Amino acid sequence: RQTGTYQGRFAPSPTGPLHAGSLVAALASWLDARAWNGGQGGRWLVRIEDVDTPRCIPGAAELILQQLATCGLVPDEPPVWQSTRGALYQQALEQLIVQGHAYPCACSRKDIEDAHAAQGHGRARHAALPYPGTCRHGLRGRSARSWRFNATDFLKNQPLEPVDKAQAAIFSIANDTVHWTDRRLGLQSQQVASAVGDFVLRRADGLWAYQLAVVVDDAAQHITHVVRGEDLADNTPRQILLQQALGVATPRYLHTPLVCGANGEKLSKQNGAAALDLRDPLQALGEAAQVLGLPALAPAHQKSLPQALEMWVSAWARNYNRQP
Ligand code: GLU
Repeated sequence: RQTGTYQGRFAPSPTGPLHAGSLVAALASWLDARAWNGGQGGRWLVRIEDVDTPRCIPGAAELILQQLATCGLVPDEPPVWQSTRGALYQQALEQLIVQGHAYPCACSRKDIEDAHAAQGHGRARHAALPYPGTCRHGLRGRSARSWRFNATDFLKNQPLEPVDKAQAAIFSIANDTVHWTDRRLGLQSQQVASAVGDFVLRRADGLWAYQLAVVVDDAAQHITHVVRGEDLADNTPRQILLQQALGVATPRYLHTPLVCGANGEKLSKQNGAAALDLRDPLQALGEAAQVLGLPALAPAHQKSLPQALEMWVSAWARNYNRQP
């Protein structure tokens, strides 16, 4: 039994062309939209997440859109570009400041490391250090560099009820912990204040942080279902807190399996994932489908891209689209 509407999105950062890992997320989000409501289908959007300008590569967004089209994955609306939406992010930041949920921060990365060392905490390699809260109650004469969300105090403000009561099935917040249900991973939880601390909304270099931009855009575009790679799963609790603070709805989340490189780490542009070979899009899609646990192409399907996609839409609907 499925009710309501469906609006999904694929939100690539144009830091390079699609690779085998990002194609999995793209295919999954497209299939989820198409399979919605017994194959009646929802809408599927593409959003170019080009806020982190130093990491963006000129031409990569156009290339990604072309690669998607080659794979038969065509958005229902022209893509939006985050770089054109600064006014929306500014408005959201101002709302959070007025509500007392955001504060300016003077700390550099070095300051944060020093604060941890002073507290006698060892340095976790690779993991970003949780923000120790140095500027939560004032800058003490130092000058502001970034803006942070006061997750610590926000979480103390119990009880937090979902904005929309029907969303109680998606998440709950109790005892400083955000609990949420992923459609593939099941029940998840995170203590945001100790795991990441008060997180950045606008960076010291003036750029908008991913967390703020993604929450503002998912809300502004009325996204009801987010399907993305599992590497982003632990961002979800931060996004739920921001949605609560801004008074917007929380979408449903489904995090897809990651593709690992030869070194066993998640395949990414950063660790040199090869660009997709799309001379044979069915071959590339077949590999992505396999990662998603979808059936291999039968010879009858191998003929055309539309037939293959149609077969996977049906298979996806059987696997994932049962819940309302
Ligand atoms: N732009 C993010 C990325 O490419 C994805 C954001 C999202 O789907 O929420 O990693």
